[in-house]
Amino acid sequence: MNIHEYQAKELFEKFGVATPAGKVAATAEEAGAAAREIGGTGLVVKAQVHAGGRGKGTFKNGFKGGVHVINTAEEAQDIAGKMLGQTLVTHQTGPEGKLVSKVLIAKSVDIVKELYFAILFDRSKSAHSIIASTEGGMNIEEVAEKTPEKITKVPVHPTMGLQPYQCRKIAAALGLKGPLINQAVKLFSSLWNLYSKSDCSLVEVNPLAVTTDGQVVALDAKFNFDDNALYRQKEVTAMRDTSEEDPREVAASDFGLNYIGLDGNIACLVNGAGLAMATMDIIKLHGGEPANFLDVGGGATKDQVASAFKIILGDPNVKGILVNIFGGIMDCNVIAQGIIAAVNEVGLTLPLVVRLEGNNVEAGKATLAGSGMAILSADGLTDAAQKIVAAVANVA
Ligand code: GDP
Ligand code: MN
Repeated sequence: MNIHEYQAKELFEKFGVATPAGKVAATAEEAGAAAREIGGTGLVVKAQVHAGGRGKGTFKNGFKGGVHVINTAEEAQDIAGKMLGQTLVTHQTGPEGKLVSKVLIAKSVDIVKELYFAILFDRSKSAHSIIASTEGGMNIEEVAEKTPEKITKVPVHPTMGLQPYQCRKIAAALGLKGPLINQAVKLFSSLWNLYSKSDCSLVEVNPLAVTTDGQVVALDAKFNFDDNALYRQKEVTAMRDTSEEDPREVAASDFGLNYIGLDGNIACLVNGAGLAMATMDIIKLHGGEPANFLDVGGGATKDQVASAFKIILGDPNVKGILVNIFGGIMDCNVIAQGIIAAVNEVGLTLPLVVRLEGNNVEAGKATLAGSGMAILSADGLTDAAQKIVAAVANVA
């Protein structure tokens, strides 16, 4: 799960991570009022979307930049009015962009140097790790590719946590001097505390700014949370903004299904993540493109199967469906009944190939055969993939 920058900064304040004061606004008038409340000149208006690269982004109405430094409340209101209700396209949003329905108004800082600081779970080290770089405000993947020597990586001990000596080492690697070192050490420790207490899998501060008045502050914030820990993170869960998520994935999560939307036209309904991946691979091997990853799990109910089917059919790109079930724990007949229930409810005009194997497979096949529905039965993965790719080629 992700959150907006303004929400991330609420967490910063709670955990004592230095960040400029700010207020969120949903209308231009609110933005003007927020600017007056924060007061002074030197403010920044920032479009709130779940994507980075806003500074260099462009709105579909032609307005340039999702981050603007301004001086008066009138300007805040004017700029907010140009962003709100508009679609911002950045290198992270894809060409469809993201609708801006909130802006953050914050105190602007005068920047001497932009740094990069992130905490993430590094699977290759099996450890939470710090990634820091002197090259802030830039795409870190690009820095890693072109100038890897400018990146410092520090693994964090799983039970001892981030140690003060490690924080000082990172501060030194970032070229910080004098009083800036202690400020950075405090900021890094607070961020680690926030990261571990909130079950984050990523906290990225880009840029971490050194200001002309000698402060180290977090100017931007990107968070990812471990979805499996959300049950114990009530405050974080309340920050979820489903309008930023793929609606198909939101519907799937409501039914406890593992679903990831993709760009192809062959929908897959599979049990088990490994089999789901193998199914996508074999569709591609035979010249097709999967429309999704969908794992209904080892013990799906008839209702879950029916919901999965409805989510699949709700995707206008889908031109055919491949159901691939290996009944280990799963009863094939439950799957068959779920398919029939869903088709009865939403209708089926697309080719449907079903490959069932394992527990109670004969009953499952009999249920499908007796339904009178136009279902293509397949034996084995290759046969199933070839049948659905051929059927979709005929539709398209
Ligand atoms: P992103 O483009 O989505 O990553 O948004 P950021 O919050 O990182 O802002 C982009 C860039 O705008 C930063 O790298 C800074 O150069 C600049 N910026 C952001 N906030 C401020 C600010 O308060 N003052 C000044 N002068 N520049 C800022
Ligand atoms: Mn940024």
